[in-house]
Amino acid sequence: MRDSSKHQGLRNQLVEILNQKGITDKRVLNAIKRIPRHLFLDSSFEDFAYQDTAFPIGAGQTISQPYTVAFQSQLLQVKSDDKILEIGTGSGYQTAVLVAMGARVYSIERQLELYKKTSVLLPKLGIRPRLLTFGDGYKGLSNYAPFDSIIVTAGAPIIPQPLMAQLKIGGRLIIPVGEDQQTMTELIRINETRFEKHEHGDFRFVPMLENKN
Ligand code: SAH
Repeated sequence: MRDSSKHQGLRNQLVEILNQKGITDKRVLNAIKRIPRHLFLDSSFEDFAYQDTAFPIGAGQTISQPYTVAFQSQLLQVKSDDKILEIGTGSGYQTAVLVAMGARVYSIERQLELYKKTSVLLPKLGIRPRLLTFGDGYKGLSNYAPFDSIIVTAGAPIIPQPLMAQLKIGGRLIIPVGEDQQTMTELIRINETRFEKHEHGDFRFVPMLENKN
């Protein structure tokens, strides 16, 4: 598969739909306009890649719905050069959107199969996160902390304490919290010990799982 003007046209339409659904951050919309989502999916989904829907990516996981990717990316309030930790690399699509927004991205995936596949795909597409690693997102990446922001792309039963500890003061954690359904939660670190919490509606993610390694 490759990228073409047909795909670009479909991306422009998708961006229009996301904008109508309330995504206004130009950097997010521009990134979605640029990243060829069909190349992150199995070729059998090529014709549907620019619908606003989640799809299976193997290992029982899914690529998030574009609206969800856009919504989380908007909540992150990304600035150029921000150092961002992503939990749940999956297909690498969310990673690619953040890299296109100018962030330095560190991403963790706990399914070996997906980690391997995405580690090959992203360089092929010329997309360069700072680090892709196989490991447990509950622990974060203390060696690379602190981060300007942290995004969790799987449904977390609890807010992992190590992730809160790895945020810069003023940084934000965007995490869907809950079991069957999740509340999109934003935690802003006010100082060493205080966090401010905001909630942004209900979503459905595949579960964040523990101790796979
Ligand atoms: N951002 C991805 C979304 C993938 S779905 C995309 O755009 O495609 C969520 C991903 O989180 C899955 O790939 C799943 O394997 C991964 N995951 C689940 N629990 C995890 C954990 N504890 N640490 C890291 N990744 C985890």
